[in-house]
Amino acid sequence: MPEAQRNNSLDTWVEEILRGDARAMARAISSVENREPESHELLRRLFPHTGRAAIIGVTGSPGTGKSTLVDGLAALLRRRGHTVGILAVDPSSPFSGGAILGDRVRMQAHAADPGVYIRSMATRGALGGLSAGTLDAAVVLDAAGKDYILVETVGVGQDEIDVMRLADVTLVVLVPGLGDDVQAFKAGIMEIADIFVLNKSDLEGADRVEAEVRGLLSVAVADKGQSSPPSICRTVAVRQEGLEQLLATVLEHLEASRSGGRLERRKIERWRQRLIDLLRERMLERVTSDVLGNGSLNQYAAAVASRETDPYSVADEILGQASRIDGVSGVPPGCKDKAPAVLDHLGIAVESLADAIAFYERALGLTVSGTELIPKEMTRVAMLPVGESRIELMEPTDPDSPIARSLAKRGPGLHHISLRVPDLDAAIERLQQNGIKIINAEPGIGAGGHRYVFVHPSSAGGVLVELVEQAKK
Ligand code: GDP
Repeated sequence: MPEAQRNNSLDTWVEEILRGDARAMARAISSVENREPESHELLRRLFPHTGRAAIIGVTGSPGTGKSTLVDGLAALLRRRGHTVGILAVDPSSPFSGGAILGDRVRMQAHAADPGVYIRSMATRGALGGLSAGTLDAAVVLDAAGKDYILVETVGVGQDEIDVMRLADVTLVVLVPGLGDDVQAFKAGIMEIADIFVLNKSDLEGADRVEAEVRGLLSVAVADKGQSSPPSICRTVAVRQEGLEQLLATVLEHLEASRSGGRLERRKIERWRQRLIDLLRERMLERVTSDVLGNGSLNQYAAAVASRETDPYSVADEILGQASRIDGVSGVPPGCKDKAPAVLDHLGIAVESLADAIAFYERALGLTVSGTELIPKEMTRVAMLPVGESRIELMEPTDPDSPIARSLAKRGPGLHHISLRVPDLDAAIERLQQNGIKIINAEPGIGAGGHRYVFVHPSSAGGVLVELVEQAKK
């Protein structure tokens, strides 16, 4: 699709989502789940419209009544005029949209209500996996104006615990007769639970589970010195009993963490984790496309398997190659050869190298990577790398040197800027076509064998500009 057209349809798509259009939201979440390339741009555009929704996580073993509870909470929130998004996350399902059957039943319950949006998620293949996908889906729902996002997971394994870390408040659902669960999952659960929901408390044994949970909590609280232990709420979700009280507890918890700064810390941790996932993903993508094309990963792997080299050195080497490629001063990948010029160095004329170095090294923290005497120029130069470029301090060694003359005329200061170009002859031709004054019509040859010319300051905003040719690979 042509660029303009694609932008256009992306604009429309974003508008539809912001309006809360269910089909646009569904398409967006699918795009996020399938890691379609357009999803990044979409999320980027949606993100400024997010930050309002509260995320409530609900987890527990299958059959404990999570869906019934979530439906009940959604209905209560709707009655109070809030909009709701429900993400049912099922790590055990190999298919996208795994919990289809449950969904259908639920869809019917809320079918006539555009204020509730329900979606299943199951994709786990990509880096950051399910929690990354869930967080991005929550971004879509948040942008679409949902006030509350209920994230429900099946089971209480590591995946679910990761997903629950995204929530602003996490509910762990237990039922009578599953006392062993409490023991089995205690480590992870204790860590993430803000509120324990003792559902099916119409059944026998509710008192015993509650006592067990309280027992575990008192140990955990003593261990961690927690200030506010998780609450325990009893419910009978099928009869909507205890849900008002549960919702009140959830909202109180949210309010308390908001005012106590805990919510902010949680959000920072959530985005820190997401950033790490994104960086891993992007760096791998970049290394794969820039360095590991043409099956070279297989070649590296074969070299490791035959003990020609070791995997640790290979990883470093590959990373080194990737950063060298990227290292052409912030040029986006794919544009390196097209970049017309990058900053090579800034030349600064100084009376005394020692004094100048004292400032740049000691006061500014830069490091001299080398000094050089250039007899032809009667100059001594100190190089200080700054990112991909460097500062060159130049001190005259003779009163007749060009730098000495410049110092006498203009005093110390910026002497020239040096730009590295991929093709010096092409650059010269372009300068000549534009009537720009070049000081040395024939390129000079520098100490490192590179060719250079100087552009007269009168054409360059009063600064002497050196063009140096990028060393041929
Ligand atoms: P999920 O797998 O955790 O989502 O559980 P569901 O919401 O699908 O509920 C599993 C079963 O438990 C269903 O048959 C519900 O009707 C039933 N159920 C849910 N809540 C209660 C409750 O409070 N008491 C009783 N007795 N049954 C319940």
